[in-house]
Amino acid sequence: MRWSEVRVKSILTRTAGYLRSVCSHSAQPYRGCSLGSSLCGVGCYVRHNRWLTRGAPWGSFLEARVNAAERYAATAAAERRWARRTRGSFDVFMSSSTDPFVPQEQRAGVTRSLLEAMLADPPDGLVLQTHSPTVTRYVETYRELARRCRLRIHVSVETDRQRLPGLPPPASSAAARLDAAASLSAAGLDVAIAVAPLLPILEPEAFFARIGAVAGSVIIDHFIGGDGSPTGARTSSTALPAAMARVAPDSVSLAYRDRMVAVAQTRVRRVGVGADGFAGRWLSWSEPCRSPDSRTAGKRCQAPAEEGRK
Ligand code: SF4
Repeated sequence: MRWSEVRVKSILTRTAGYLRSVCSHSAQPYRGCSLGSSLCGVGCYVRHNRWLTRGAPWGSFLEARVNAAERYAATAAAERRWARRTRGSFDVFMSSSTDPFVPQEQRAGVTRSLLEAMLADPPDGLVLQTHSPTVTRYVETYRELARRCRLRIHVSVETDRQRLPGLPPPASSAAARLDAAASLSAAGLDVAIAVAPLLPILEPEAFFARIGAVAGSVIIDHFIGGDGSPTGARTSSTALPAAMARVAPDSVSLAYRDRMVAVAQTRVRRVGVGADGFAGRWLSWSEPCRSPDSRTAGKRCQAPAEEGRK
């Protein structure tokens, strides 16, 4: 893992493309992701973004944006004015092209400092999205932030399987991430589980029942329509679809996603599909999931990203 520290000119990026319907801005405390060599990194949309990777293998580098908090404090007021004028609200997605809780966060504290800067000058809304159970580390900060802005925490859990044969293991178990979600919910926070990209589920009823027990919401997205290409072509160039098809041949179709959405609707209070889910726009109880998805086609998921996807 190549580690470096940089000072950036800005930390708030005005969203475009997929993220535009989700938040006004994204914030990336790091460039790169040290979870990139684990299971989620295989289908990670950001790995296809040459502007971000600068030709380096995904998962091989992590750059800490050490002045992130300072840049937030310096620019939040102007960005808030712009966002309220043009988008109606100043909402930040953290993060779409890295994980705010990479293991190195414990030492570097870039995410922590950025959250503290937001405490001092809060956005109107904040979505925190992570694959790491260490998201629980700053729970007191979240509670305070939730008093000052709309805060929703997305914990990514793509499957109930321990492994997909032929692919690397996840950086943390699904159970550990669901337990983290339970802790956050118990602290009174608004938590959603992001099943994105949807991988083959071993026991759908039990999986979504567990999600319903630990979080108020679930977001489901498939790599088709979710990876920034209309047909899932980006993901098709990776080892992920073949590994999915080996354990569940139908899992590489949108019909599979729709079946999982139907199960989720019987187990979880709020269900969102694709970008709508990331934005907190939920299906009504009676609304079936449309397939092929007219709302999310050509858009990204897992962590939506204007700079790629996480
Ligand atoms: S999906 Fe998220 S956590 Fe996984 S490699 Fe990509 S940015 Fe990192």
